[in-house]
Amino acid sequence: MTSRDMAMFDRGRSLFRGSVFSCFRVLLAGLAMGAGVAAQQSAAPVTAIRAGRLLDPDAGRVLTNQIILVEGNRIRDVGPNVAIPAGAAVIDLSRMTVLPGLVDSHNHLAITYKPEPENNVYYYTYVQDSTALRAIQAVANGVTMLNAGFTVVRDLGNNGNYADSALRQAIDQGWIPGPTIINSGIIIGGMGGQFFPTPEMAKNHNIVYPEYLDADTPDEIVKAVRQNILFGAKVIKICVDCKPYGYTADEIRLFIREAAKSGMKVAGHVQTPAGAKNAIDAGIWSIEHSGALNDDLHKQMAAKGIWRAGTETPTGLQGHPVSEQAYKRTIDGLKNAYDNKVPLVFSTDADYWVAGKTRGELVTEFLRPWKDAGIPNVDILRALTINGYRVCDIDKARGPIKAGYFADVIAVAGDPLADIDALKNVQFVMKDGQVFKKDGVMTPAAFFHGGPVNGWRIR
Ligand SMILES: [Zn+2]
Repeated sequence: MTSRDMAMFDRGRSLFRGSVFSCFRVLLAGLAMGAGVAAQQSAAPVTAIRAGRLLDPDAGRVLTNQIILVEGNRIRDVGPNVAIPAGAAVIDLSRMTVLPGLVDSHNHLAITYKPEPENNVYYYTYVQDSTALRAIQAVANGVTMLNAGFTVVRDLGNNGNYADSALRQAIDQGWIPGPTIINSGIIIGGMGGQFFPTPEMAKNHNIVYPEYLDADTPDEIVKAVRQNILFGAKVIKICVDCKPYGYTADEIRLFIREAAKSGMKVAGHVQTPAGAKNAIDAGIWSIEHSGALNDDLHKQMAAKGIWRAGTETPTGLQGHPVSEQAYKRTIDGLKNAYDNKVPLVFSTDADYWVAGKTRGELVTEFLRPWKDAGIPNVDILRALTINGYRVCDIDKARGPIKAGYFADVIAVAGDPLADIDALKNVQFVMKDGQVFKKDGVMTPAAFFHGGPVNGWRIR
């Protein structure tokens, strides 16, 4: 295999985690070593990035005058005295702060509900907008997220009939630019999901599908998890308590066991303290949304190391009002979680349109609640980076700017450790070793191709 083939195969391998794919993996190895793939002979391009300031959020420090050497889609070396090979492309970020790519740990790229015509009720969005249209919206939303410096997005359902899987595959195969997508497929819940369909519509018209998969019994739970994995999910998302009948701790344990067979984690939408308690008792991976969490539940989450993917929506978003009272509760909750040392991620639940803003611009507005909660900038940065890689379960391969990791690198003009709003002005984005944005301008041409350049086998 050439190094390029090796890199492609690595990539495929990272996507096919879990024992359920092991047989398929053997088949892939056989195919990859065959004459067809081996015929593509080309050395991986080498790029050297001169980083004036290199921010390591994990260590909470900045190193000056570093060189990041990128070969193909991976970082080969980082340090002050790294030799730049002859013929390497050099990118001068010597006046910038360079840092790892950002993570939104809860977004919905393939849905955008709007004031007009649906009055922000997404029940109507999914009736009006086809999955195909929503998949195209997801491409646009993903591009704007990458433009805002978000190289990873955990995409948690409400994406029509697996538009999220299609988006991930299109990005991973190399058709289009976009963040690394950790997608859930269809949200699994008790009958009705988050909707309240009429009896006329619900029974035979299956009106909640494809937004929700009904799973009310142990057999249906197992089947729903398997369906999502078959159709491309990388995390399992459940509605813990969207209905009064909700899920018990034992039922959540069944989700966790079934997902674990394929190496996947379970994220739980939670909206009541009782639901949160069941999810915590079951040992769920992450709790989505924060409205139901209190001091006692935060202490239990901290003790068990359960991720908190809160929804810290700022006030003042046009067409998406948040009362001052609700905002105060949000800030107090975030502060309490931080004080209790709950593992925190940056998560927006963005699934709506705010006039005049792209999805990427909307998401950066969510920095304000973290500032208002008095969270130190270094910990906001950790929530946006290292904790994001961990909740996505990709931290062994992607995120940190270290040798051997995939080359996702961004740069800003200011110093985010001193002023977190510096992150609102991302000047440079590299994704998988390819430059997507330079000098504040998107330059995505290299990402567009007439075929699946990273391999059609990526699923
Ligand atoms: Zn959500």
